[in-house]
Parts: sequence; structure tokens; C-alpha cells
Amino acid sequence: MSIKSKVIVIGGGIGGLSTAALLLKEGYEVELLEKNEILGGRARKFEDKGFVFDMGPSWYMMPEVFEEVFKSLGYKISDLYNLVRLPVNYKVFFDNNRTYTIYSDLEKNLETFEKTERGAGEKLKNYLNRTKLLYEITMKDLILMDYKNIKLEKFLKLFNLLPNINLSGSFHSVISKQFNNEDLQKILEFATVFLGGSPYNTPAFYTIINYADFNLGIWYPMGGMHKIVEALSKIAQDLGVSIVTSEEVQKINIDKNKKTANIVSTLKKDYKADYVVVNADYAYAEMNLLEKDFQTYDENYWRKRTMSPSALIIYLGVNKKINNLEHHNLYFNDTWKESFDFIFKNPRWPSNPSYYIHMPSKTDPSMAPEEGESLMILVPVAPGLQDTEEIRNNLAEKIIKHLENLIGEDISNHVVVKRIFSHSNFASDYNAYKGTALGLAHTLGQTAIFRPKNKSKKVKNLFYVGQYTNPGIGVPITMLSSKIVTNLLTKNGL
Ligand SMILES: Cc1cc2nc3c(=O)[nH]c(=O)nc-3n(C[C@H](O)[C@H](O)[C@H](O)COP(=O)(O)OP(=O)(O)OC[C@H]3O[C@@H](n4cnc5c(N)ncnc54)[C@H](O)[C@@H]3O)c2cc1C
Repeated sequence: MSIKSKVIVIGGGIGGLSTAALLLKEGYEVELLEKNEILGGRARKFEDKGFVFDMGPSWYMMPEVFEEVFKSLGYKISDLYNLVRLPVNYKVFFDNNRTYTIYSDLEKNLETFEKTERGAGEKLKNYLNRTKLLYEITMKDLILMDYKNIKLEKFLKLFNLLPNINLSGSFHSVISKQFNNEDLQKILEFATVFLGGSPYNTPAFYTIINYADFNLGIWYPMGGMHKIVEALSKIAQDLGVSIVTSEEVQKINIDKNKKTANIVSTLKKDYKADYVVVNADYAYAEMNLLEKDFQTYDENYWRKRTMSPSALIIYLGVNKKINNLEHHNLYFNDTWKESFDFIFKNPRWPSNPSYYIHMPSKTDPSMAPEEGESLMILVPVAPGLQDTEEIRNNLAEKIIKHLENLIGEDISNHVVVKRIFSHSNFASDYNAYKGTALGLAHTLGQTAIFRPKNKSKKVKNLFYVGQYTNPGIGVPITMLSSKIVTNLLTKNGL
């Protein structure tokens, strides 16, 4: 290319940063505009009084995907951060003092399943072998598809190639057919929350996530998940991406004759573009940055979609060591199905929710001062709820008290940092539709060919990257989204 085509990337989340770097490597001139002061989007971090908090993602799964994307950029993970495999995947608490520990050692987990339900150890082994096959086919043949040209029949044919795998029905239907014990069912089913759904509305296909958890393991970059953002930002900048922070895009202007996006406007400046890649929330961008005639998915479309939950997140810095928690911890209440109804069927604030506790200082002393712990407590809640100060504070208080009873340790009297984040913060910080944490849930009707496309149908040079589009939600998956967009854009040939 003698005169380089110019790409404007709107948003500096994981998707925007990785696309910007990949496109620059392909020879484009790339400028990235991010509304916030710092990069990373939902994967931002904050620090206070020596405590460090990853604000969003905390589970580093599917390490081979990170390896692959960084390899495309010319790097090895070991050049970028120190990645360790956690010896304990997570600890699960139930009511009445029942706890389970899931280890990186599969044999130990098979024993736990066997001890809990006769025959469940062997069943888990067989189940994971089947999900392994499905996982491998997905990663090899399906995940990088752009679904633009593929016919439904071809897609279904691929699925038919899979012998002995139950792909019909929900995640829960597959699990409950094999395991009777409800604790074991919940241990296998909670991962649907990573996909923005519930065991009842997530298709059976996604049982591959159990293989990712039990077999591929849970990993951690020393220094925190933000190391991924730091690595991507540095690579992008070293390659020559121009990054402008505190620059919120207001409009994508379209040349109406050519049906191409030609100028991206912020309050400060107009940026000329040959291509535009949107990493900002898809719903927001279509409804707010484009005129109606150029929206592929209008307000009516988004109103009817199943959005993934929002979250009430409590970041706590405490000046004591907590003995009874592991790095990742989960509490599951006894009203499992009803809890998901609170999110998806009859949206309202929960009174006794299940929740997740991240305590990275267990593994990484740099995350908290000596003799302290940094905690993130996350409660998934329905999107679109009103989150007044009173509601947020009352629920946070209740959860902290509950956690103290659950682990038998005093927390309240040791809090030195406390911050609460929920719907209104997701909306104001990321322009998140209904304050969703994860974008579009992976229901059957919102998966693969049914997910909003990586390329606009109305504007020839407009692309979308990130968790709303293909392949979907999660840090590694969003990085793969950037590979799809890079492929599409380089082949676009306007
Ligand atoms: C609480 C929480 C926990 C999670 N846990 C995990 C986990 O454990 N493991 C995992 O793999 N994934 C996890 N995820 C999911 C993962 O973080 C996301 O899927 C991924 O980070 C999404 O990246 P993205 O690039 O699509 O979007 P975002 O991170 O949202 O990036 C979009 C960017 O666009 C910017 N933007 C918006 N509007 C504009 C505008 N008008 N102009 C300029 N910029 C704009 C935003 O500020 C943002 O920086 C979690 C997410 C959350 C919220």
C-alpha cells in the first residue's frame, strides 16, 4: 500500500486494542479513540491505598487463545507477563456448611464427584471427553467464522458430524440427565454466567466451557488481568497505533451516495476515515452514533434481545488476611432456578443472591498491602433495573454480612477501601445498554449466525468487534473477534 488506508477504531477495550494492533500489522494507518481516561474498557483496573482491583474480568481461561492472538502480533506470552496456573480452580460454598474445592488436578475432582454421587466420577470423565471433542471442533472449524457467507445447512452439517454429543436442549438438560446431585449440577452449570446466560437459556453446545474449566485450567497473569490490557496497549503503541483517550465519539458520518462512513466526530474534532471499526457497545453505537437509515439493528431489535446480566460489584480492601477463601470462590444459594428467574424472567433485585468472590491477593502479593487482601464480590443482577444508592448500599451490606457468616471471619471491621459499581456505572462508563455487564447473552437465538454481524449490512466500510458480536463474550473470545474483523476488513477491498 503506498498511501495507507486509515482506520478509526472507536473504543479501547480488549476488542478495540487487539483489532487496532492487528490492522496496523496489516499495513493500515490506525487511530483509536477511547472515551475514558484509561484503556481497557470493562477490563480496567483501579488502585487505592495500595490495593489493586481488576474491575471486570478475573478468570483467565483458554490460555491457548491468548497465545495465538499474541503470536499473530509477533509476541509470546512469556515476553509479556508471568502466567501461572492456579492449583485450585475455585472453592464453592453452599448453605449448611457444605463446601467443595475444584482443583487443577482432574483426578481429585473425579474423586470429589464420586464421593458426592456414586458413579459421578466416571460420568464426569466421560462427559469431559465428549466436551473435549466438541471444544476442539469448535476451535478448529467454527469459532473464527464470520457467518457472512455460510449457509445454515453447512453449519448444521458440521454439528451432525459430532457423534454421541447431545446438542439439543439447554445446558441444564444435558447436565441434569447425567448428574442427580444438585450441588454437582450447580458446579457444572454456573459457568453459563460467563456466557451472560443461565443454565436454562444457554444451549447445550456451550458445555464446552466445562472442558475449558476442568481440563484446560484456570490461569492468572501475575500483576492481575490488567496485564493483558497493558500488553495490548504497549504492542499497539509500539507498532504505531495512535491512541487518543478522553475522546468520546458522538457521531459516525456517512457519505450517503457511497454508503460509506467517512468522518468520525467527537466534541473536539472530526477524524477522516477509510474504514471504521466500532468496539463501543454495539447496541449503543447503532442507536446513538448512526442515523436511522444506516442502523442494521434498530431500537426495536435491541428491545427484544436477551441482554446478559448487569452486576452489583463490591470492591473491598481489607487490612487482614482471610484464611477461608481461595483465589476464586462461589456461593450458591438453594433457590438456584428462582435466582435466574430474578434475572431473566421477572427482572427484580434479589434478596438472597448467589455471588462470586475474587481474592487475587491469595496468589499475588502485589494486589494488596502486606497483611491485607483485595476482594471483588460480584452479584449478577437483571439488566435495566434502577440502582439507587439506597438499593446498592443495602444489598452490599447484606452480602458482606452473609459472607462473614459463610466463612466465619470478620470483614466489616477491617474495610479500608470500599467501592460499589453497578448498572448506572456500566451505563455511564461504557455506554452499556440497560447497564449490561456482558452485552448480548448467548441464547440459541443469539449465537453464531443469529448474533449481530461483525460487518454492517448498511454501511460498506463499518465493522464491529467485541463481546456483542461473533464469536461472543469473554476476554479470549473478544480477542478472536478482532481476528475475524481484521480478516473481513483486509478482504473488503472497497
Ligand atoms: C464484571 C465483569 C466480569 C467479567 N469477568 C470475566 C472473566 O472473568 N473472564 C473473561 O474472560 N471475561 C470476563 N468478562 C467479560 C470481558 O471482560 C468482556 O467480554 C471483554 O472485556 C469485552 O471487551 P470489549 O472490547 O468487547 O468491550 P469493552 O471492554 O466494553 O470496550 C469498549 C470500549 O469502548 C469505549 N466506548 C464506549 N462508547 C464510546 C464512544 N462513544 N467513544 C469512544 N469510546 C467509547 C468504552 O469506554 C470501552 O473502553 C467480565 C466482564 C465484566 C463486566
